[in-house]
Amino acid sequence: MNNSTIKKFKIRTRFAPSPTGFLHIGGLRTALYSYLFAKQHGGQFVLRLEDTDINRIVKGAAEAIYSGLKWARIEYDEGPDISGPFEPYVQSQRLDIYKKYAQELINEGFAYYCFCDEQTLEQIRKEQIAKKQAPKYDGRCRSLPREDIKVRLQQNQSHVVRMKIPERRVIEVNDIVRGKVIYKSDELDDQVLLKSNGYPTYHLAVVIDDHLMEISHVTRTEEWLPSTPKHILLYEYFNWKAPQWAHLPLLLNPDKTKMSKRKGDIALEDYIKKGYLPQAMINYLAFLGWNPGAPAFAEASTGKEKEIYSMEELLKDFRIEKVHKAGAVFNIEKLNWYNQYYIRQMPEQQLLEKCQLYLPENKTGFGGEQIIKMLNLEKERANTLGEIGEGIKFFFEPPAYTKELLKWKEMADKQIKKSLTTSKKIISEIPDEEFTVENLKSILLSEAEIMKNRGELLWPLRAALSGQQNSPPPFEIIEILGKKETLARINKAINLL
Ligand code: GLU
Repeated sequence: MNNSTIKKFKIRTRFAPSPTGFLHIGGLRTALYSYLFAKQHGGQFVLRLEDTDINRIVKGAAEAIYSGLKWARIEYDEGPDISGPFEPYVQSQRLDIYKKYAQELINEGFAYYCFCDEQTLEQIRKEQIAKKQAPKYDGRCRSLPREDIKVRLQQNQSHVVRMKIPERRVIEVNDIVRGKVIYKSDELDDQVLLKSNGYPTYHLAVVIDDHLMEISHVTRTEEWLPSTPKHILLYEYFNWKAPQWAHLPLLLNPDKTKMSKRKGDIALEDYIKKGYLPQAMINYLAFLGWNPGAPAFAEASTGKEKEIYSMEELLKDFRIEKVHKAGAVFNIEKLNWYNQYYIRQMPEQQLLEKCQLYLPENKTGFGGEQIIKMLNLEKERANTLGEIGEGIKFFFEPPAYTKELLKWKEMADKQIKKSLTTSKKIISEIPDEEFTVENLKSILLSEAEIMKNRGELLWPLRAALSGQQNSPPPFEIIEILGKKETLARINKAINLL
């Protein structure tokens, strides 16, 4: 498919998550690709909630989906919380529609009532397994006499509606990502379309809704590919034009297994809480299954493939036909790399605002300027806003430490005390107006040079100020803390010895 053929149609895509807990990071990637594709062709992007599996619905999950998409700046044109011309956009509010169409299929002979109970189905399964056959419904209710059905329905016998899968049909899925995929109808089950509680299954609801909502392209992950032949048959039964499909590669753990909670975070919320930035997440996810392809998109200056993409640039360069077939490995280091990039790029004032949520309690009353200095120091080391907050905690309240921390190499307590006393004297003698990083650095470093090793002066000092094994250099810390607090911390350390 090339661009000119795509443009002839009205492009409408959708993201159709089930509100079963949280917005999965893979779901966000699906939403992103669907959004980019629709928007770059002047089309619409729709959000629909697929909540027909009532046992799995989790309270608050729908709201997490709305807010997650908004956080990522993936704006939907129609959806449950903003409505639109094809509302309602929540499947549990469309039950009458599904019933009506299921009835139509029954009337046309494409679907049938099935009254088999759990035990019968279990029995069928067991027998098939014993015969080494793939378990599937054996179709025994397909040809129940009309009268029999009528009586059972009048008696309110529990039943489902199943679709009739034709025999010996070859069904071709022409997928934008995966190309032509062939399925044999004999391998398909007479799929339940309507459950005994009157709810549709995913298969019935998705086909009806994609049709009624005029979806032109269905973008979803590869795990739904085996369902697509059933959907194709349903489009045929209804005599509806089928959409085009693009099945996206799965997200994988580094060990190539399907990405799962056991191996790391998969909920977007967890990443938001840790302080990943939306720009970083979007840029990273865009590349999980797609890349612009070198050398056409190489950076002029480096000859390397361009990796930094804003949403606007993605809208320009993303190509659904270039999405990869192979599963995409979720690599947290790469996400961290993107996050660091966007954090370092951020104007200071904006970074201060973004970090508010992560700042420790400001009992000492540090001003914005001082906090910005802390952020500037820490942003060079941190992966996330949360790590920045964690890293600058010691400015606000020094952590408790033991005197061991103050010790550089083999220094004895007496030497450490002497070193700290020297630092104290030097620092207290610097006039307030000369209390700058440059001055502190030049004065303290020239003193340190006199010692056998610089560390003898600088380590105890830095440790006394930060109470930590690792931290930024002492000069920057001193400037931010100010003379009074610096001297107080040094005194506290001296008293430990
Ligand atoms: N409700 C399905 C899901 O949660 C959507 C599958 C589809 O997009 O067709 O993944």
